[in-house]
Amino acid sequence: MSLDALSRSPPGNVQLNRQSTLKDARAHGATSPRDEGEDARRVQLVEVTIDSLAEVGYVGTTLAEIARRADVSPGLVAHYFGDKDGLLEAAFRTLARTLAVRVRARLAQARTPRGRVQAVIDINLAPEEFNQRTGTAWLAFWGQVLHVEGLKRVQTAYQRRMLSNLRSDLRRMIPGEYARSLAAMIAAMIDGVWLRAALSEWQEADSESACALLTAFVEGRLKELAPTVTATAAAAPAPPPVVGGTFRVHNPATGAVLAELTADGPAQIEAAVERARAAQRHWAALGGAARGRVLQRAAQLLRAHNDELARLETLNTGKPIQETRVVDVTSGAECLEYYAGLAAGIAGEHLDFGPAAFGYTRREPLGVVAGIGAWNYPLQIACWKSAPALACGNAMIFKPAELTPLTALKLEEIYRAAGLPAGVFQVVQGMAATGRLLTRHPHIRKISLTGEVSTGKAVMADAAASLKQVTLELGGKSPLIVFDDARLENAVAGALLGNFYSAGEVCSNGTRVFVQRGVHARFVEQLRARTAALRVGDPLDPATQVGSLISAEHLEKVLGFIARGRAQGARLVIGGVRLTAGDLANGCFVAPTVFDHCHDDMDIVRQEIFGPVMSVLEFDTEAEVIERANATEFGLAAGVFTNDLTRAHRVIAELQAGTCWINHYNVTPVELPFGGVKLSGLGRENGRAALEHYTQLKSVYVAMGDIDSPY
Ligand code: NDP
Repeated sequence: MSLDALSRSPPGNVQLNRQSTLKDARAHGATSPRDEGEDARRVQLVEVTIDSLAEVGYVGTTLAEIARRADVSPGLVAHYFGDKDGLLEAAFRTLARTLAVRVRARLAQARTPRGRVQAVIDINLAPEEFNQRTGTAWLAFWGQVLHVEGLKRVQTAYQRRMLSNLRSDLRRMIPGEYARSLAAMIAAMIDGVWLRAALSEWQEADSESACALLTAFVEGRLKELAPTVTATAAAAPAPPPVVGGTFRVHNPATGAVLAELTADGPAQIEAAVERARAAQRHWAALGGAARGRVLQRAAQLLRAHNDELARLETLNTGKPIQETRVVDVTSGAECLEYYAGLAAGIAGEHLDFGPAAFGYTRREPLGVVAGIGAWNYPLQIACWKSAPALACGNAMIFKPAELTPLTALKLEEIYRAAGLPAGVFQVVQGMAATGRLLTRHPHIRKISLTGEVSTGKAVMADAAASLKQVTLELGGKSPLIVFDDARLENAVAGALLGNFYSAGEVCSNGTRVFVQRGVHARFVEQLRARTAALRVGDPLDPATQVGSLISAEHLEKVLGFIARGRAQGARLVIGGVRLTAGDLANGCFVAPTVFDHCHDDMDIVRQEIFGPVMSVLEFDTEAEVIERANATEFGLAAGVFTNDLTRAHRVIAELQAGTCWINHYNVTPVELPFGGVKLSGLGRENGRAALEHYTQLKSVYVAMGDIDSPY
């Protein structure tokens, strides 16, 4: 489906891969109550099918054979499953579901990320799975997966869940990129030992030693990789690059596949850089006013396509349409308009050295620069990076996050339609490995990244090899401080905005809400009441206020934090659960969650969750709250609610944060520079400050007379 078609099609059409056939429904066990007898019969037939696969293989397992073994008529088997494909799909689903249920039960018991990784290994290689009967049946299915669409679906869903579980836990122990490749290796090794066992006719089928082998491998890799979290990123061993191939883009609210894209590899990046280098010279030579006109036209097109783009953003991110319609596209357009206005005024300065000489500086573009985006504000991030870059006369190659790559492609189309020469703004697609091709490319002069702290360190280390400039917009764990003289309704509104907007997936969120003791009880009560009124639901419903999280992997991470919050003694005021009722069943919805009685050393208070989870902490004095607010390695943002004018400015001056608000939270007008200090980042986006990050100065000395030479 083209992106055009996608962004215009009604919701039902998007669920292309989720259309249920009667066969699917049966395979899922969607029967009426009166069919309990039939259920038992179906289970029996599935079990017989697994036996048959183990004994006579795929070819020998026919409807007639199953009927013979079960002592029923072939017509009855056909009644339940349609044809052979339907029968096998039902059997495969049963195997996959049984395994998934066991994994879930073990995961629920595990107390640490390492324990959860072990749970996945143990269950997949458990004696009851790793035996001739089940193993041969699995292998029979694998042999057909490429030819039978239904089997492929089951296999893909199973693999995706396993990888997502593994990645989510590994990410808590090692940087994201290593987590991804280690998760893939573990999954591949599980498959590998099964295959070897089958080829040896189950002579090598020893569950215990297979488990021990894989466990030792994981231990070894974790030991090698874990120190890289604290060591300098430059010293980290590079994971094997994974480029090329395709990846699927999902709607996290439904699980539907929205698109399939190809990850760009070295050849594509090389070609993109060459195109950009050629195009950039002409673009820079156009002059600021002409560049500004193109940006202005692009902003108009963004506004003209607001609803269509908002819809696509909602489909891909799970954010409510009521947000994307008024914020995501509009703030992108505002950014283009702002830099369109500044483009003609980008200039150096004149310096007077007396009658015999003068000097001047030229503010010149850097050349080809790269933007790498996070998944939470895909279009806005692409605009925030590209608008100043292009206004200054650079060409930009932009890689969106693999989870949300669609609206950046739209922006590329819009820029072209607005008259931007080909090659000046190009979107490349892929995962971290594609990103690395940009960060390591010698002809790219700057990287602007929005992402996690660990990614920022890796990008900076890679950029060092060719001394690229970097702008890093990274994570945060920002304080929002409510003094007891604050206007309470506003403070509560600020806390809600700063925690639940975009389901809490906002880098600058004020997730540590410090409330002065005198007002604490009233604050929490108002917070509870207003949180209870929030409407969580279908992101495309205009009434929905809180949508889906970005992925199943992220959902697990957020739920893990909630579980640890409870385990570590925080009081759950409201929320704290995944929501699965009705239409939400296949999505990643978490109820807006408030924890009270939190302490500074709890995981939910120290680590970035990036979900709808707020921690309320009490404090007594101004000096105390400043010290506690600053006791974090992050420094992205901070907010203060008070009616005491002098205290507001005094406290803000003391807070270690790059972006601050007084009596508001999370408003980011494009005129105001945005960025962090400490581990939250380097450089600034927005405002005039961004122009400095996309230009370099050339100093020129001009002599007006003869040289007074001593030689
Ligand atoms: P990640 O750091 O996982 O990814 C960010 C981007 O970097 C993605 O496009 C990713 O590719 C790419 N990438 C990952 N590793 C490398 C590498 N080694 N070299 C080059 N590129 C790489 O962040 P998320 O997408 O998960 O976004 C969430 C994070 O972003 C949070 O920590 C949040 O706080 C932060 N953020 C910060 C903002 C700010 O302005 N300060 C604003 C918004 C978010 P891919 O994902 O495709 O593999």
